[in-house]
Amino acid sequence: MATLTTRFAPSPTGFLHLGHAYSALIGWHAAREVGGKFLLRIEDIDVGRCREEFLEAISEDLAWLGIDWDGPVRRQSEHFDDYRAALARLTDAGLIYPCFCTRRDIAAEVAHADAAPQGEDRPLYPGTCRHLSETERARRIAAGDSFALRLDVAEARARTSALSWQDEERGTIAAAPESLGDVVLARKDVPTSYHLAVTVDDALQGVTLVTRGVDLFASTHIHRLLQALLDLPVPRYRHHALLTDPTGKRYAKRDKALTLRSLREAGHTPDEVRAMAVK
Ligand code: GLU
Repeated sequence: MATLTTRFAPSPTGFLHLGHAYSALIGWHAAREVGGKFLLRIEDIDVGRCREEFLEAISEDLAWLGIDWDGPVRRQSEHFDDYRAALARLTDAGLIYPCFCTRRDIAAEVAHADAAPQGEDRPLYPGTCRHLSETERARRIAAGDSFALRLDVAEARARTSALSWQDEERGTIAAAPESLGDVVLARKDVPTSYHLAVTVDDALQGVTLVTRGVDLFASTHIHRLLQALLDLPVPRYRHHALLTDPTGKRYAKRDKALTLRSLREAGHTPDEVRAMAVK
């Protein structure tokens, strides 16, 4: 029986670059070193930004690098029902409310609107729609106003005891989900959000060690709260430092020259690229 299950969960919104290879290799090594499982999950809930071309390239590029994965690839866009079911539980528990605010409404409050890992939860939501009356909510829904669904974090926190997780690089971390505010659990255009889908999937797929970049560390506070609310098992976490280029800048999808694809086309071997994808 597998003792350890890790995963790599890219979004097909661009070609994989060296930073992805670095992250994937961390999860892959962690699993393979102990005879565990390594899973591949495609995080494509943002249907408008994901492209089939990038989806196909993910498997090809990983295979070219020598990274193999166990079992079928899970594609989040094929599992909206799983996220709906989780959302229904939270709704029945009275922890969800509709939010009619536009991005502009919220962005007016704080400057760095696009700093969020998945671009959907920052700036910190000021709680505007939490206080709407049931009548007002019903009126706006009937009027056809579009809305997202948010988690009432203060209420959720009041119903859970102290929460923590084990972080391999940082030890025991006390969860402070209020630091992210009332996050979106279902977007206006998609029946889930990054936070909900990733938490549900890690549990459904039996992931026991989540390896991912430290840029997602803050999100784990919310994921830990969702695990408590949904009675899900709690994996261990390893939030690794991000691979940076020689000037100290992190790799990003816009660095076209450093996609695995372009490195391969430039004549680099998988061994060479693996050697580049280390710190
Ligand atoms: N889909 C996320 C990304 O590509 C990773 C999510 C995770 O590992 O939790 O940034």
